[in-house]
Amino acid sequence: MSARSPTPVVAMAAPVPAPTPAATRHIDTLFVANRGEIAARIRRTCDRLGIRAVVPGERGHPAIDLLDPGAAVRAALGVGADAVHPGFGFLSENPIFAERVVEAGLTWVGPPATAIRAMGDKGAARRLAASLDIPVVPGYDGPDQSDAALATAASTIGLPLLVKPAAGGGGKGMRVVRDAADLPAAVASARREAAGAFGDDRIILERYLAGPRHVEVQVLFDAHGHRVHLGERDCSVQRRHQKILEETPSPAVGPDLRRRLGDSALALAAAVDYVGAGTCEFLVDDDRWYFLEMNTRLQVEHPVTEMATGRDLVADQLRIASGLPLDFGQAEVDDLLALGIHAVEVRLYAEDADLGFLPATGRVEAIRWPVDPDGRVRVDTGIEPGSVVDERFDPMLAKIVAAGTDRRAAIDRLAAALDEIVVLGLTTNLRFLRWLVRQPVVVEGEVRIDTLERVWPPPAGPDDAKATQERTTDPPDDAWGVAARLLAATTTDARPSPEPGSAPERVPEVWAGGWRLNGSARLRIAAEGGSSRTVTVPDPTMPTARWAVLAADGVAHVDVDGLSVAFDLAPAPDVDRALRTAADRHEGGSEEVTAPMPGAVLAVHVGAGDAVLVGEALVTLEAMKMEHVVTATRPAVVREVLVRAADQVRRGQLLIVLE
Ligand code: ADP
Repeated sequence: MSARSPTPVVAMAAPVPAPTPAATRHIDTLFVANRGEIAARIRRTCDRLGIRAVVPGERGHPAIDLLDPGAAVRAALGVGADAVHPGFGFLSENPIFAERVVEAGLTWVGPPATAIRAMGDKGAARRLAASLDIPVVPGYDGPDQSDAALATAASTIGLPLLVKPAAGGGGKGMRVVRDAADLPAAVASARREAAGAFGDDRIILERYLAGPRHVEVQVLFDAHGHRVHLGERDCSVQRRHQKILEETPSPAVGPDLRRRLGDSALALAAAVDYVGAGTCEFLVDDDRWYFLEMNTRLQVEHPVTEMATGRDLVADQLRIASGLPLDFGQAEVDDLLALGIHAVEVRLYAEDADLGFLPATGRVEAIRWPVDPDGRVRVDTGIEPGSVVDERFDPMLAKIVAAGTDRRAAIDRLAAALDEIVVLGLTTNLRFLRWLVRQPVVVEGEVRIDTLERVWPPPAGPDDAKATQERTTDPPDDAWGVAARLLAATTTDARPSPEPGSAPERVPEVWAGGWRLNGSARLRIAAEGGSSRTVTVPDPTMPTARWAVLAADGVAHVDVDGLSVAFDLAPAPDVDRALRTAADRHEGGSEEVTAPMPGAVLAVHVGAGDAVLVGEALVTLEAMKMEHVVTATRPAVVREVLVRAADQVRRGQLLIVLE
C-alpha cells in the first residue's frame, strides 16, 4: 500500500534500545485458542513468519471446549506450543486465562491480566477515563447496586437511558429505558442476562444518546514503553448494537478530532500499563465525544486498519508478545494516515435478512470469492465447501474488505466485490449487504448507530414487493430452469425419459454452464419455501447467467441475486393429497405453515381443532438462542399439527396446516 519502510519508533529522539536477549521469547509454535475465521487469519500470519500454528479441531488436532481455560492450556502444552493467541470472543478477555497461560510458562499474546481486568469492568473504565479528564457519557457507575440507588441515579441522568452490564460485551444485556416506569423491569432483566452471560450482575446506567456515531481507535503498546495509535475505525452501521460495516478513516473525524481521540486512547491504555493490541471505543456526536469502553484484544474489524496502514496487526501482536520493540512509530503512522487510503469491511453472516435476520444453518455447497490481483480486496473466512454451519457455529462466515485511494473508490470496489460472491447451500445476508453498500446514506457517509433500523427493511415499492415475492414464494423463471437442468441429472424417471440409453448423470458440482444433458424432460420441482412447478428442462446448450450447484444429497442450490435457493424434486403427487387440495380449493383453501428457519421446536401453542386469530402464536422455534414465534396470518382452524416440542425442524418444514 505504501512504499515507506518502517523506521524505529524513537528514531527521532534516540536509537531504539536493543532488547536484552533475556527479555525476548522466541515463538516456534503458536496455539490458537479459537476457530473459524479468526483462527485462519492468525494462521496466515504464522505461515508467513514461519511459525507453526496449531488450531484445535483442525488438521488432526482434537477439538476442545473453547470456553474452558484449563482445557486450552493443557492442549497448548500438549502440542508443545510456546505461545497462546486467544483470537477474539471465547477466552480473549478472560484475565484468568491470561494468568493460567503465563503460569504454565507459555507466552500470552495479549495484554497483562491486570489490564484486561481493569478494562473488563465498564464502570471502572468509565471512572478511570473521568479521572484522566476524558469525557464519558453522563451516567452512573457507582458501587451501590440497590434498586433505590439506581432509581435515584436514573432520575438525575434523565431519559432515555441505557442499562448496561458492567462486565458486558457483544451488546448482551443492554436495555433502553424510555419510560421511568420501565426501569425496574429493565434492570431486573439486564441483571439476569448479565449473571447468566458474564457471571457478574452489576450494571451501569448511561444516558442513551440519540444517534451518535461509533468511532474507535486502534492502539499498539510494546513492553519497552513505545506506543502508537493507528487511527480510527467508524463502526456506526449497526443493527441492534452489533456492527455490520466498518471503515477507516471515519467520514466524521478530521485531523483535530483524530488527535484528541488518539491521545485519549493512548492515555487510557497507558493508565493500565497496557502491552499489546487494543481498541478504545468512543461515541461521537456532532460536537461532542465520549469514551465508551476499551476492548483488550484484537477486534473483528481490524482488517480495515491493516488495509489502510499496510500493517499486519497479528504480526505486531506476536512481535510485542516476544518482547521485541515496535519497529515503527507514531510519525510513520501519521504519514501513512495522511495518504488517506480508505478501507471498508462488511460482515457476511449466515442469517436471513428478510426474516428479521434470523440465523440460518446449512452446509456450504459451493463458494466463489472475489479476486483482486492488486490486493485491494481481501476476504477473511473460515468456511470452505463442505463446512457445516449449525447452531454451534459462529454465524459470521466471512469479512469482505476493500480499499481505495478515497472513500468512494473503496465503497465502489466493495460493492463490485460483493457482486462477485456466491455462497450456495445456505441463506446468507449477501443480498442485504449488496443493498447496504449502495444505500445513499452509506455512500454519503452519513450513517449513525440508529440509521439502519430506519432504512431497513426498505419501504415496499413495486420493485421491493417483487423482490420479497421472489424471495418468499417464487424464484424467477430462469432459476427454475437452472434447477431443472441440475435435478434432471439425478433422476431416471424424468418424463419423458432422457435419451434412450443415456445414463443419468450425477454431477457433484456444476457451475453454471458446465452441464451435458439431452432431451426436453419435464420435472416437478419444489423450491424451498413451499412453491412447486412443473418445469421443462431447458435446452442444455442455452447459456445461463446463474450460479448453481447440485449437492450430494440431490438438492440443487441456485443463486438468486445473492440468495441461495434450494430446489428439490417434488414428491410424486399422491391421490389423497390431490383430492384434499381440490377440496380445499372448493372450500376456500388451507394454509401450510412452514418453519421460517431451522431450529428446535420450543413449544407448540395449538392443537388440532383449535380456532386461531390473526397474530396468535402457533409454534415457538429457537435457533442460536434466539426465539422466534410463528403466528397465524389469518383467522383459521388448526387442521393438523405436525411437530412436537423438542423436535428439530428444517427450514421450510411443514409445522401446521390451517383451514
Ligand atoms: P458491548 O461491550 O456489549 O459491545 P458497548 O458499550 O461497546 O457494548 O456498546 C455497544 C453499542 O451500543 C455501541 O456501539 C452503541 O451502538 C450502543 N451504545 C452503547 N452505549 C450507548 C449510549 N450511552 N447511547 C447510545 N448508544 C449506546
